[in-house]
Amino acid sequence: MSTDVVRYEKRGAAAIVTMNRPEYRNAQNSAMTYALDAAFRQAVDDDEVSVIVLAGAGKHFSAGHDIGTPGRDVDSVFENTAVLWWDHVGKDGGDLRYAREMEVYLGMCRRWREIPKPVIAMVQGACIAGGLMLAFVCDLIVATEDAFFADPVVRMGIPGVEYFAHPWVLGTRAAKEILFTGDRFTAQRAYEWGMVTRVVAADQLEAETLAIADRISAMPRFGLALAKRAVNQCEDAMGMRTGMDSVFGLHHFAHAHNAEVGADSLNGMDAKSMKSAGS
Ligand code: ZN
Repeated sequence: MSTDVVRYEKRGAAAIVTMNRPEYRNAQNSAMTYALDAAFRQAVDDDEVSVIVLAGAGKHFSAGHDIGTPGRDVDSVFENTAVLWWDHVGKDGGDLRYAREMEVYLGMCRRWREIPKPVIAMVQGACIAGGLMLAFVCDLIVATEDAFFADPVVRMGIPGVEYFAHPWVLGTRAAKEILFTGDRFTAQRAYEWGMVTRVVAADQLEAETLAIADRISAMPRFGLALAKRAVNQCEDAMGMRTGMDSVFGLHHFAHAHNAEVGADSLNGMDAKSMKSAGS
């Protein structure tokens, strides 16, 4: 089981869903995306599970989307789950990118945001770009003191990651700062901005997260589902859903511009050059 890209375990009323590619800092490929979706489905269907914890195996929560590991599986076919659209495989240019990112990035994140049980991100180490999207999707974020966050994709000439929740979860001023600089920000700063729920000592991460899960699990399941939906609906009334849709267009305009004038849709950047350009 340890070779699975996602691990699933139950701890009391909590289901712990763990991204399990620690050798690649849990870079998210499609295999992981669909394994995460299957694990969330299992947790939703299990009446004994009140709360879901999303974790990353090893030193880091997630370094982001897989843009260069040997397990990168951009050309593999998986059954589309998030949106009813044709598969990206075998398509070209914007047709390919739009189909793929609408399904595995924006669509999946939106689908997971609507999971009818509270989801807590348990974050240590790096939580970068696509990793940040996964944390944004969760209802609460518990992070260690040494966890760090960043959305550095402006270095690719792209205005942030596909699930553009930044103005709503960070506030507009902090959103601009982290986008304009691409710099890492600490768990403490993220806490001050209201993005992170708790900052805890590294050796207390699991205990503190499970303690919160335990408190939440005392509430009735349906009440929790409705409370989550209530806040999400208000977030959407604050413009999050329509804002994200408009930004997804800018995001794809940037991919297309890069492909038109540069080396590729990522402006020639890969995981290594992104890391070396970073702080
Ligand atoms: Zn993209």
